[in-house]
Amino acid sequence: MKAVQIEKPMALKIIDMEKPVITEHDNVLVKIKAAGICGSDVGIYHGTNAAATYPRVIGHEMVGEVVETGPGVRKIKAGDRVIIDQVVNCGHCYACRKNRGNVCADLQVRGVHIDGGYREYMAVPESDVYLLPDSLSYEDAVMIEPTTIAIQSCSRAELCEEDTLLILGCGALGSSILKIARLSGAKIIVVDVVDEKLQEALQNGADYAINLAKEDVVAKAREYTDGYGPTVSIDAVCNKTSLATLLELTGNAGRVITMGFSIDPTEITQFKVTSKELDIRGSRLQNKKFQQALDLVNEGKLDLNGSISHRFHFLDAQKAFDFVDSRDPSIRKIVLTFD
Ligand code: MN
Ligand code: ZN
Repeated sequence: MKAVQIEKPMALKIIDMEKPVITEHDNVLVKIKAAGICGSDVGIYHGTNAAATYPRVIGHEMVGEVVETGPGVRKIKAGDRVIIDQVVNCGHCYACRKNRGNVCADLQVRGVHIDGGYREYMAVPESDVYLLPDSLSYEDAVMIEPTTIAIQSCSRAELCEEDTLLILGCGALGSSILKIARLSGAKIIVVDVVDEKLQEALQNGADYAINLAKEDVVAKAREYTDGYGPTVSIDAVCNKTSLATLLELTGNAGRVITMGFSIDPTEITQFKVTSKELDIRGSRLQNKKFQQALDLVNEGKLDLNGSISHRFHFLDAQKAFDFVDSRDPSIRKIVLTFD
């Protein structure tokens, strides 16, 4: 079978690979139908993802059809349409025992540390696949994974109705967070430097928008919260100043959620954290959030239809990644197809 491999940074290859077979009792064999391109896939291609190892078959937003099941498989059958969880963990370290396997000491993420979904077939444990709603096409279903990332950040923030949330960044990540956060009933402030993205966020349920390039974000955030400051802020940008800005503007007893992977040092003061008793919490990947995301779709609370802006056949992955690098403003979500 064919696969898309990043041999080393900036070297994308189509390779021949052995088609996987069911080796474990509980395995299902999935014929991949669609796989999303995420910012972190682009980071592995560019060589800026510190977690990745090479050579690697990338792709962690992977959906497909079950074509074969092992003898111990109970709930899943051939013909089922599924999405595959990207997190593989050891199950017995401290984090795993605390039910936080997404930060397992021996974490293996499909498409990052082990081979992922840009290939024709994958064999995975039954417990790692989730049934797709009939209402969702394979292509739109790749958006379930970014949704789980958003659910993870809101759950780490303990976001609820009485909160005011500030989302820094209205890109793909910020937009997914907005879609989930608005279901909590919290008031939402979005921040970006591009007016069009802020307008889009306002149409998608944000209450206030701040253009960081033109306005004083700290003053505006206070103004929109009667002087208190947002009670939750999420950094969906991660640059040199973003964390310091959020520590400055977040209100007393608030939570500041980080999601970035930058290893650049950033200067912060303990006074901001201590005096307001802020919680700074990381949010990484997602912790068994697939069913929650799928339930939101099934209940009609979340509409992921029409999320895809561009499609490429997976054998044309080079063209797709070149297109990402062109930074075309029409890019929202790009999906690789396999038929
Ligand atoms: Mn992703
Ligand atoms: Zn573990």
